[in-house]
Amino acid sequence: MLLLDAREQVAHYGRELLRRGLTTGSFGNLSVFVPEAKVMVISPSGLDYDRVSPQDVSVVTMDGVVLDGARKPSSEADLHRVFYQNDPTVGAVVHTHSTYATLMACLGKSLEPIHYLIAYAGAMEVPCIPYYPFGTMELAQAAYEGMGKGRALLLGGHGLVCVGPNLGYTVDAAQQLEFVARLCYQAMVVGGGVNLTEEQLSSAFDALKRHHQPEERKS
Ligand SMILES: [Zn+2]
Repeated sequence: MLLLDAREQVAHYGRELLRRGLTTGSFGNLSVFVPEAKVMVISPSGLDYDRVSPQDVSVVTMDGVVLDGARKPSSEADLHRVFYQNDPTVGAVVHTHSTYATLMACLGKSLEPIHYLIAYAGAMEVPCIPYYPFGTMELAQAAYEGMGKGRALLLGGHGLVCVGPNLGYTVDAAQQLEFVARLCYQAMVVGGGVNLTEEQLSSAFDALKRHHQPEERKS
């Protein structure tokens, strides 16, 4: 089987999304980039994560051609591909419909820096872009442009996207930003939280930045 290690990682972290309460059934999707082969390895479409085995995971080229996999790749394959095509520092992409991040996306609200774990976004906020139909190139392009220099984005009326150096870190980012989204929503309900400053957050940014060094990248 092509790229067994990367496919095992995708199957494993798919189950992690379920275990950590970041998704249910087959919703959301995740992928890892294999730079030596210039392909992405992505979760399949419509199969519950607890049933995904390495052979179900798809291997897709940067032109969108499916090289291997017993199932169709995720319907959001273009959303993943656009980041690998345009940003060589991205080694993994995770997209979830986790409850509070999605709630904020439905409210059209960005995540603000009220808790230091916003640093997982690599920016002072997680912006929210307008709604675009799921599974379209239009959504993929808007997401790439909306992410800017950050590492996370809310898709209006849809969910959360995180990018990172490897799957382990990026699944952690999705989990921590779901926590921040919950805090942002609950703070908003009682009139808003207190935004931290860039200076206050500098040590959190520095602590996480070392995870983005190339030697940390796994494929
Ligand atoms: Zn989605």
